[in-house]
Amino acid sequence: MLVMQTVECIHCKSEKVVKNGKRASGVQCLLCRNCKESFQLEYTNNGAKPETKLMIIKMTLNGSGIRDISRVLGVSQGTVIVVLKKLKILLSTSIPNIVILKNE
Ligand SMILES: [Zn+2]
Repeated sequence: MLVMQTVECIHCKSEKVVKNGKRASGVQCLLCRNCKESFQLEYTNNGAKPETKLMIIKMTLNGSGIRDISRVLGVSQGTVIVVLKKLKILLSTSIPNIVILKNE
């Protein structure tokens, strides 16, 4: 029986995705032809999961510290710092005007 699974890129949601070898652990790697990013369908490492990175950003915006975030999400403090540094570089280079909305 042939089973087709539609896979979309986790970065740009494009369906132009091809296989791109395997990790040493045997997990299939995928490459997006649209944005040229490499990704896996499922991550075993908490720090590599896209939803973890999003939670780190959300918790930082809500005033949580690095040690708080590390403890709650189950990632190392180094992972939290790396994600926040990458975010800082991204914000300083690609978005010139940031509007912060406050709930009052
Ligand atoms: Zn993509």
